[in-house]
Amino acid sequence: MKHIVVIPGDGIGTEVTDSAVEVLKKIDEIYKIGLTYEWKDAGGASYDQYGVPLTEDTIEACRKADAILFGAVGGDQWDHLEPSLRPEKAILGLRKSLGLYVNLRPVRIQDSMIEYSPLKPEIAKGTDILIVRELVGGIYFGKRCESEIVNGAEQAWDVEKYSVPEVERITRFAMEAARKRKGHVTSVDKSNVLASSRLWRRTVIKLHDEEYKDVRLDHMYVDNCAQQFAIHPSSFDVVVTSNMFGDILSDEAAVLSGSIGMLPSASIGEETSLYEPIHGSAPDIAGKGIANPIATILSAAMLLRYSLNEDKAADAIEKAVNDTLEEGYRTGDIYREGMKRVDGKGMKEAILAHLG
Ligand code: NAD
Repeated sequence: MKHIVVIPGDGIGTEVTDSAVEVLKKIDEIYKIGLTYEWKDAGGASYDQYGVPLTEDTIEACRKADAILFGAVGGDQWDHLEPSLRPEKAILGLRKSLGLYVNLRPVRIQDSMIEYSPLKPEIAKGTDILIVRELVGGIYFGKRCESEIVNGAEQAWDVEKYSVPEVERITRFAMEAARKRKGHVTSVDKSNVLASSRLWRRTVIKLHDEEYKDVRLDHMYVDNCAQQFAIHPSSFDVVVTSNMFGDILSDEAAVLSGSIGMLPSASIGEETSLYEPIHGSAPDIAGKGIANPIATILSAAMLLRYSLNEDKAADAIEKAVNDTLEEGYRTGDIYREGMKRVDGKGMKEAILAHLG
């Protein structure tokens, strides 16, 4: 049996996780994986019930799970709370307590969705990037000073620091992922300026030469990478980078596809991993039943692939989503004249039908 903790969270989190669990149940019937489920609160829903956005009970359940499916947290009604009680703290708390050290963001532009990309179709065509971002090191976790006076002037600073084992761990993940894809890794750094980037690049090269000669490796400065995403995105396969560069590049890559409701993500740890759509709780459409469930359904496919090694089941879900889109089914966020307009439930039903 494989145990999944489901955390719907707030807003549209409930609708989209419900749809994704239905898809998982159907795939389990077909592939006989033996999935079991347990629901837990986090975010505003947890605050309302327990006075905190993330309880020890939820963390403990996640630690024991084979994988976690997460919806989204947040909403205006909790915006007045002090920072430590805000719903968004739940996701940071889970990443930290579960040691989730890799963030994976696949960005694929299917032919049937090419018109939604802000890029020209001939540039967008064939884009299929997996961004592998280091998630627990670098400048976001380094030493910092909020304010100090030096020679009469106020200053503040943050330290970017990486160790060889940290870089090796994330590089190994990227290389293994590339072996299952097109076998190409681009390591992104700023080694023309930063010492931490020079260590990053040296470490990536050494590991590649020792263990991953079969993978094509190249290096790119982060500023050049930001440009290349906009002018030649289809030239990338796997992109591996640090916490801050990955934060910025993954948001840039996300807009290439043109719809926030379609992009999944994964945060991977040694013991367990968490899968979630990249969008938030969308309070503006929550409860209306119109949220696009595709990002969460594709997150469930990533869960099968990366946590349960069920590649065939993951492929089947991704194919069902593609086929549904090819047939013209569209939720409001991606609707265009002449397409088949459906609500969130309608999209889920169409995907389930294609799985069958
Ligand atoms: P958002 O992603 O929730 O919404 C941005 C826009 O995209 C909205 O117009 C929304 O309606 C639309 N949208 C998002 N997902 C959609 C879907 N599946 N289908 C159709 N339309 C969709 O971002 P926001 O408005 O900046 O944030 C809302 C709340 O979510 C805030 O409280 C924020 O802190 C939180 N948030 C949470 C997470 C998370 O849980 N990981 C991530 C981002 C934002």
